[in-house]
Amino acid sequence: MQFNSTLESIKTYEAGKPIELVVREFGIAPEAIVKLASNENPYGCSLHVSQAVEHILSKMARYPDDSMYKLKASLAKRYGVDAGKVIIGSGSDQVIEFAVHAKAGPSRPVLMSAVTFAMYEIYAKHVGAPVLRTTSRHHDLEEFYALYQAHKPSIIFICTPNNPIGDAIDAASLFTFMEKIDSDTLVIVDGAYMEYGRARDAAKALDAQSLIKHFDNVLYLGTFSKAYGLGGMRVGYGIASEPIIEALYKLRPPFNITTLSLEAATVALEDEAFIEQSVASNFSEMARYEAFAKERGLEYIESYTNFITFCFEAPMNGTKIAQTLLSKGMIVRDLASYGLNSIRVTIGTPSENDRFFELFDHLLKE
Ligand SMILES: *Cc1c(COP(=O)(O)O)cnc(C)c1O
Repeated sequence: MQFNSTLESIKTYEAGKPIELVVREFGIAPEAIVKLASNENPYGCSLHVSQAVEHILSKMARYPDDSMYKLKASLAKRYGVDAGKVIIGSGSDQVIEFAVHAKAGPSRPVLMSAVTFAMYEIYAKHVGAPVLRTTSRHHDLEEFYALYQAHKPSIIFICTPNNPIGDAIDAASLFTFMEKIDSDTLVIVDGAYMEYGRARDAAKALDAQSLIKHFDNVLYLGTFSKAYGLGGMRVGYGIASEPIIEALYKLRPPFNITTLSLEAATVALEDEAFIEQSVASNFSEMARYEAFAKERGLEYIESYTNFITFCFEAPMNGTKIAQTLLSKGMIVRDLASYGLNSIRVTIGTPSENDRFFELFDHLLKE
């Protein structure tokens, strides 16, 4: 069968391997498997969420509130904006999809960093939009600007802190950059790891409210999948000026967020203490990873997120390392598909991290 030719260049997105797959492939008991591959919160989510979700189990026969009134109002309050400046997606992924479909196309390229979130390129390919990348692995805003001037892209993707390598840009430099970008270019600022980034360094903290107050062409994205611990619920959001939100709404399928997910996200947003604890534990455990790497002379990238990226040089091989760890029940992310000889490891609980250090040490000695 013939499909749209745009599909020919798309590689299917490879998500972090689920625990169930390792159980099946390697016959390892589920309890013995540690998954440090998808940047989920290893401490779960706010305890208030499970209670709240139980209360609404009786409402499942009805479609969800399609206005998403409660969650939108809570997010609007949190960010200090009107609810008309908020859109909710089935993960912030879905908001990225809406934005790319709304703005990019065959003669309307998109611009992104050399190494960044894989879904930007996949959505661009849906609509046949050329993908421009900087040569720098880290976000280099000067290079972004030069490419912007040369190619006038329809969308610029800024992922800060950046997945999969953990770098982040200063909020002040983003403001300076934005001032030079024309108002018809959509700048998507993906803050999936902002809860972590701002805690590590206040200079990296983006204030979405002031960003969208100053710039009509910014779409700020957040998600409940990472620090909030609701990856299984699929809720993310975008904040932008009304004309952008109205355009994205035209692409939104009805009832795109389940009743359970709406309730879980609304309750999770209120529990700031949970986020603070998760973020604090993340960075105290991150310090152990850094010490581990330094002691063994391993190269890693300074990270503003809940993961750390180790970079290898031949003969060490990231793919082989990830495979060997997998066969022992430790799931990490091989970054070969990003063109890197690296693995990305989500910071787990103290005991999960102990297990990683033990297995990795063993492997290094072989
Ligand atoms: C995880 C992630 C997202 C979105 O995840 P959803 O689960 O779809 O909300 C977006 N951007 C980056 C960079 C991510 O790492």
